Amino acid sequence: MIAENINHIKQEVGHNVKLVVVSKFRTISEIQDAYDAGHRLFAENKVQPLLERYEALPKDIEWHLIGHLQTNKVKYITPFIQTIQSVDSLKLLIEINKQALKDARVIECLLQIYIAQEDTKFGLSKEECIALLNADELKTLNNIKITGIMGMATFTDDLQQVEREFKSLKSFFDELKAQYNLPGFETISMGMSNDYNLAIACGSNLIRVGTKVFQ
Ligand SMILES: *Cc1c(COP(=O)(O)O)cnc(C)c1O
Repeated sequence: MIAENINHIKQEVGHNVKLVVVSKFRTISEIQDAYDAGHRLFAENKVQPLLERYEALPKDIEWHLIGHLQTNKVKYITPFIQTIQSVDSLKLLIEINKQALKDARVIECLLQIYIAQEDTKFGLSKEECIALLNADELKTLNNIKITGIMGMATFTDDLQQVEREFKSLKSFFDELKAQYNLPGFETISMGMSNDYNLAIACGSNLIRVGTKVFQ
């Protein structure tokens, strides 16, 4: 049962960790069930399904995007998206800012950091992330707010490797927070169905859970 699953996870993780329910591949009625259980924070990884679900579901849902975003699709989501967790270039950030300005909105952005030992995942290396934060142009972007970082661990059964990757993301977050004066830079998005407890133990304060909610 979706409601029980959500309540169970919320109790397990406590008040200091935000649960984003990942609704990709689910039906509108499954998502509606989660909504009816009181949940309001959902994420999709692709623009087209996100638009369809935004249209079909109640408008007080807070939507996050967690998958790769092409610059030519930014304009479709800026009217309503709350947070884009998958920002992986300055070019993308500039486009988000431009479209958000047209919509008179400020959009929260997480920088997606590449921590996995796989080359199938999108994201910035730590060096690229630092270069982005050092860019002069960033100061002119008033319609975006960088509120933290997001990362995905390697898809592996080796929990020690996953733990190393989560710890490395947390220490990178701490470094950035100390180094840069970014108001509201508070979010470390890491942890999915299989590894959210480990992620939280390593310092995550936002988990993205799909399978375990809808199973
Ligand atoms: C699908 C997805 C999740 C959720 O994964 P589950 O294993 O179903 O919990 C989390 N983050 C991202 C970026 C995803 O694409």
